Amino acid sequence: MNKTRILKSHVKIGDMVCVLSGKDKKKRGRVIALSARAKKALVSGINKVKKHLKARRIGDDSGIVEVEAPIRTDKLQVVCPHCDVPTRVGHELNEKNVKVRVCKKCKRQFAK
Ligand SMILES: [Zn+2]
Repeated sequence: MNKTRILKSHVKIGDMVCVLSGKDKKKRGRVIALSARAKKALVSGINKVKKHLKARRIGDDSGIVEVEAPIRTDKLQVVCPHCDVPTRVGHELNEKNVKVRVCKKCKRQFAK
């Protein structure tokens, strides 16, 4: 088995995604960062956790802040920009023979 192969994800940075399960079920957010290897994504406004910060240097703020924690990408579904519903992603070749992502519902291409 080739362990060094790049793991591909159906979500990409900048995608609008919908959460399928968990405490943020049915919520939507935009993907900020992606770790394909860990199969996790950072989504704005999703999977917020409270972090207790202690001021470590003079001038630092201490207190409780809410930050987004990475969420597993298999809990995410891409929201189609054309039909505005969470959908599965298909792969097709476009006229330039480049693989593109398409919406399984309306068959139209995603922006990237
Ligand atoms: Zn669509």
